[in-house]
Amino acid sequence: MSPEGKKDAATERKLLVSRQSKNEDTVIHVKQAAIGGSSHVLIAGPCSIESRDQLLTVAKAMKQEGVTVLRGGAFKPRTSPYDFQGLGLEGLKIMKEIADEVGMVTISEIMSPEQIDMAAPYIDIFQIGARNMQNFELLKAVGRSKKPVLLKRGLSATLEEFILAAEYLIYNGNDQVMLIERGIRTFEKWTRNTLDISAIPILKQETHLPVLVDVTHSTGRKDILLACAKAALAAGADGIMVEVHPNPQDALSDAKQQINVDEFHAFWKGLRDSGLYHG
Ligand code: PEP
Ligand code: MN
Repeated sequence: MSPEGKKDAATERKLLVSRQSKNEDTVIHVKQAAIGGSSHVLIAGPCSIESRDQLLTVAKAMKQEGVTVLRGGAFKPRTSPYDFQGLGLEGLKIMKEIADEVGMVTISEIMSPEQIDMAAPYIDIFQIGARNMQNFELLKAVGRSKKPVLLKRGLSATLEEFILAAEYLIYNGNDQVMLIERGIRTFEKWTRNTLDISAIPILKQETHLPVLVDVTHSTGRKDILLACAKAALAAGADGIMVEVHPNPQDALSDAKQQINVDEFHAFWKGLRDSGLYHG
């Protein structure tokens, strides 16, 4: 129900994502990871997979810190065509090899229906990025794929649009859906995006899906990652995503916002010490 009490598209019909259709929390089991339910999850890794050495360094460090899910982009949605576009299939092969070696669950973005079959053998969770939240042919195709999927909130998407994008996935047959708030566009310039904390309790109330928060893309600032991660957990988020790179200053994408392994250690310790994180 919208604040004025008017029914909108998302509430006129009983949606498959809604608590009316299924009251209990959806928990997604992927290898040793459980996403949603009573425990939290931390997803960490570089913005882009750049080389075997780069990913292996981060993966080993994250594994040692107790992180279960490794992120890394191989197909990168870049604003400029002149920027690094990702290693593509080669990157996914690197990711699989390293995940098998280190023992981690993996997540990587796909941007088109053709990339589904290409990527499926190499990763555990598909990510649909903010720029593709309303790529309806992609949503339908990933819906048919049955592989767990992390759906990012669109750059300027309302919660209703976000929920309906998730509905496409479930409607087409995939109920392994996680939502992630990654900040929305506002007039504010001191953060890359505006982290919409209110999205968390609303999405938790309106849907039965796990709700995560990407503290890196929502803020674009290393100095407020911990505060925002704490706020996310306090508001009821099921997990956090953060970008970690061995040498952020040399990163081929998002160089300014990625933290290094030492910074990650401090962030992670701070989060655990806060008592808000339940692993
Ligand atoms: C990412 O996770 O690397 C990414 C591109 O994020 P978003 O789609 O939220 O911008
Ligand atoms: Mn990034």
